[in-house]
Amino acid sequence: MRKSLILIISFILILSVIVYNNYFLESEVTVYAMDTVMKIKIRGNQDVLNDVEKLLYDIDFKFNAYNSKSYIYKLNEGAIKEVPDDVARLIEFSLKMCYETDGNFNIALKELKDLWNLSGENPRIPTDEEIGNALKSSDFSKIIVKNNIVELNGAKIDLGGVVKGYAADCVVALLKTKGIKEAIIDLGGNVYSYSDNNDITVGIQKPFSQRGDVVCTTAVNDKAVVSSGTYERYFEQDGKIFHHIFDPCSGYPSDNYIESVTVIGRSSAECDIYSTALLVMGKEKAKEFYINHPEYEFLIISKGVLYKTPGLNINLIDSDFEVNDILK
Ligand code: AMP
Ligand code: MG
Repeated sequence: MRKSLILIISFILILSVIVYNNYFLESEVTVYAMDTVMKIKIRGNQDVLNDVEKLLYDIDFKFNAYNSKSYIYKLNEGAIKEVPDDVARLIEFSLKMCYETDGNFNIALKELKDLWNLSGENPRIPTDEEIGNALKSSDFSKIIVKNNIVELNGAKIDLGGVVKGYAADCVVALLKTKGIKEAIIDLGGNVYSYSDNNDITVGIQKPFSQRGDVVCTTAVNDKAVVSSGTYERYFEQDGKIFHHIFDPCSGYPSDNYIESVTVIGRSSAECDIYSTALLVMGKEKAKEFYINHPEYEFLIISKGVLYKTPGLNINLIDSDFEVNDILK
């Protein structure tokens, strides 16, 4: 029997944005939710963090497509149509972004994701027939959201590409309501930080390198920094990488030499969506995107080059990398 050539290199989610200069903040909590170790630090009372913890568990519980008690699971099973307001609004917003990104971001890839099984023990390259079948449930235009009623009409959804970004926005809103003036919210590859007296420096992970090896840093305040990377979850077969971000047209992992995309902006949910979408779109379409959305800065890492938008200031750490303006 032919020996399997599949070499599993990484199932551990390697986080892509690293809070680099962690100056002292007195209260902190670590939460494991959404398949991610999350760390929230604040200047303020520890009690507030109990509410943050509850909020994160609640979001995980509602949106986890793999928990049979979640609304997303039940919608996919056809067991319910009515969902609470927050669930309906996130589906509605994500659906709007599917259209806005020309389907490069697609919430209806649940069956494709299950087929490739990149989070499981035996990921493998599916057959064309299997991919064709999984793509039958990927037509997001079938989804209709009206008030609190969600009709999937055969689509199977997974909000894995947006839920952490959404959660970061919810945490920020909660902390600000409670009067917290300084916080670092680190939900894996999704970081949001704000402060009334410091910028926070974050490092961008070097693709396919040890966690904590950064290519560059950037200083932000009251903004989200969100990365999507092909190195976060992947397997390798016959020298080729098969990663967890899919091109909805081919049903294969996106294949355009982009290793990671980091997006910086006010809304963490949008940055989360755009980082995934730009990774699929590729460099040329990303340029167009910037022209239409100058309020977002981003950084694409591809084959040893950092392509950055003109408004993004970075400090290059790894001099093996070249820096280029994406518009040139
Ligand atoms: P992120 O790390 O935010 O880029 O999200 C990656 C996750 O989003 C994957 O693990 C899938 O659950 C999901 N996903 C993969 N490809 C896509 C896509 N083209 N559009 C939307 N979600 C996707
Ligand atoms: Mg994303």
